[in-house]
Amino acid sequence: MSKLHNGLAVWFTGLSGAGKSTICDGVEQELRNQGYRVEVLDGDVVREGLTKDLGFSKADRDTNIRRIGFVTKLLTRNDVVVLVPVISPYRAMRDEMRAQIDSFAEVYVSTPLAVCEQRDVKGLYKKARAGEIKQFTGIDDPYEPPLNPELECKTHESSVEDCVHQVVALIQSRTAIA
Ligand code: ADP
Repeated sequence: MSKLHNGLAVWFTGLSGAGKSTICDGVEQELRNQGYRVEVLDGDVVREGLTKDLGFSKADRDTNIRRIGFVTKLLTRNDVVVLVPVISPYRAMRDEMRAQIDSFAEVYVSTPLAVCEQRDVKGLYKKARAGEIKQFTGIDDPYEPPLNPELECKTHESSVEDCVHQVVALIQSRTAIA
């Protein structure tokens, strides 16, 4: 029997610098204002703790996603909205998360590589182009875009506020706050 609840995993996928964390910050703030229970599992933060032992090979990336997915599942089944901004470049792994987590929505932050590279928020594209970082998604490692995401955020065309608003609307449509 299905239960009406507020738990939902919102999985943000896209290139480094696409805007995943920035949009999540705004969504988290707005959800808290509305009384939701929220947690954020940011890829960069998780890699400093839960998955610190992992690198960027396909096997390590898959393990990274599986661990994040495990925690996400625990939280969502306890009525938490979990925002997950992680590059998660492999479609099969995102589909595995969708299959495992009862309530799941995929947000594709579809900022083109050229825009991400021009922003170069963390200076990583410059290093990747110079060969100082290997296996960098979009440069010398693959990114497989979602085929059927619940939402696409085009940050090169829409403001941060608009993107946040779109995601909050999606969450509201998928949850029932008492
Ligand atoms: P990611 O988490 O995907 O690696 P970040 O959120 O760290 O990306 O960086 C995205 C950068 O793009 C930030 O500097 C942000 O201010 C900028 N930006 C410009 N327009 C947008 C938008 N519409 N949505 C999100 N970020 C945007």
